Order: sequence, then C-alpha cells, then structure tokens
Amino acid sequence: MTESASVAVCPRCHRPVVVRDRGEYTVERAALIVANGLCVCPPAKAPTPPGDGTDPLDS
Ligand SMILES: [Zn+2]
Repeated sequence: MTESASVAVCPRCHRPVVVRDRGEYTVERAALIVANGLCVCPPAKAPTPPGDGTDPLDS
C-alpha cells in the first residue's frame, strides 16, 4: 500500500498544511516539512462575489 501521494499540501505554496488527523502525520509529510516548512498562508476567506450589494448589514 503506497500512501506517499496522500500528503495534504497547500494549493498556493505547495507546502504541507496543518492537519488534525494523526493518520496524516506520515513520514513523507514530515520530510516535506523539514525540506520546505509548513504552509503559512492565511486561511482562505469565504468567497465574496463582487458587485453583490445585498448585505443586510450594509444599509
Ligand atoms: Zn500555503
């Protein structure tokens, strides 16, 4: 069973992201963290469609 491709990485910086599941603490992930470091990108914001002025709190 090969799990080497199961390391969750950030789509932006391609570094390993923080995981909560101990099952994801793999040797491959640890090696990536040592090599590249952890992802430090800010959390993705909720998508806000431009031009949508229907926010009830904005009036
Ligand atoms: Zn990142």
